[in-house]
Amino acid sequence: MDRHEKTPADFLITCVDHVITCDDTFQVFSPGAIAVHQGTIVAVGTPCELHQRYEAKETVTLSGHIVLPGLVNTHVHGAMSLFRGLADDLPLDRWLHEHIFPAESRHVQPDFVFLGTLLSCTEMLLGGTTCFCDGYFFEEAAAQAADLCGIRAVLGQGILDFPTPDAPDPKAVRHRIQAFLENFPRTSARLRPSLFCHAPYTCSPETLQWAKAVCTDRGMLFQIHVSETRWEVETIRSRYGTSPVAHLERLGILDDQTLCAHAVWIDDQEIHLLAETGACMAHCVESNLKLASGIAPIPAVLKAGIPVGLGTDGCASNNDLDLFSEMSLTARVHKAVTGNPTVCDARRVLLMATRMGAHAVGWGAATGSLEVGKKADMVALDMERAHLCPLYDPTSHVVYAARASDVRHVWVDGVPVVRDGVLKTVDVPNLLREVRKAAAVIAEGMFFR
Ligand SMILES: [Zn+2]
Repeated sequence: MDRHEKTPADFLITCVDHVITCDDTFQVFSPGAIAVHQGTIVAVGTPCELHQRYEAKETVTLSGHIVLPGLVNTHVHGAMSLFRGLADDLPLDRWLHEHIFPAESRHVQPDFVFLGTLLSCTEMLLGGTTCFCDGYFFEEAAAQAADLCGIRAVLGQGILDFPTPDAPDPKAVRHRIQAFLENFPRTSARLRPSLFCHAPYTCSPETLQWAKAVCTDRGMLFQIHVSETRWEVETIRSRYGTSPVAHLERLGILDDQTLCAHAVWIDDQEIHLLAETGACMAHCVESNLKLASGIAPIPAVLKAGIPVGLGTDGCASNNDLDLFSEMSLTARVHKAVTGNPTVCDARRVLLMATRMGAHAVGWGAATGSLEVGKKADMVALDMERAHLCPLYDPTSHVVYAARASDVRHVWVDGVPVVRDGVLKTVDVPNLLREVRKAAAVIAEGMFFR
């Protein structure tokens, strides 16, 4: 083909040992190449084919790498990374009421949310996560942090029926939501607002229905923690005479724009309800294990066809935002629970961390797989590591052997936000200094409490 007949592209990633597309047929190109133009993937194929078809302004040669879609963290409380390791080894109710809620009421302000979310975004981008779904307070500040560092995000403003850092009077929560929606930065198409009702036991039926109606009205994702603990299931049963999932279904909360985080204690009937309504799930296995909440019945949930993504939950109950360790644990723990080593296979788990997760948080049309027309959200893993050698199956390595620290390059919207392991959008040493200063104040508060 004549040089002049080639199609222009902004850049071509080529000579990649393995490109895992995570598309419908789970195509893997070995070797592979990807052409990107104006932030969008215009072709995925073999290096030979793409070099013939595209005239790229820049060529990035990635021999010794695996390229996969950017990972999607479907459940995070970004600002809580400032509480990383603050209180461990406690049951959920004591952890929340004796440590997290008091620390939140003392410290959570817009600056705190901005700094904590920036730290979380930094950790996530460096570890190959290009999209996250957040829920916390002062979410305008979280949006500003996400905007600054170049990540894709859904930012959910937290709602509870008792005083919170940004709505000290619960009666005024509707004004707070209005202000959040008015102040939400409209500068980036990578950011979407959302509402996050904390749980069925902290939000009344009226609050839940009102918030869901606002989300439906504006085409926003509605998020909620559901059936995280046995205590919650018993509480909802004693209050409403039914299970948390059935309670939400009765209220008309469940549809394909509703994301249920945790769903640990759900029975077959509730799985059926979730599947019927199209509601999605965020599986937070590390957080559920650390707080001894339990283990969600993921093989049954997947069998029912419910879209499930992986979530780290907040840093205070994890204590990191590493989706590689979530994949590894998800692929292992359900085998032990069910006594069946064929469940949650590597391919299925990688799809949970990518395409299914993107669908669950409402970004499925734009990200979650390497396909023509999708945004160029991509991660390159360096394979020149002892723990990744030899390689027979790249998907197996991504799920069972790779670590967040193997991430070498990351693109969001085709923008190289991480190059050679360095985040280009944030001054990381300065950020860590600011975080340590904030942590010193938090530690002092704990000491004199
Ligand atoms: Zn959570």
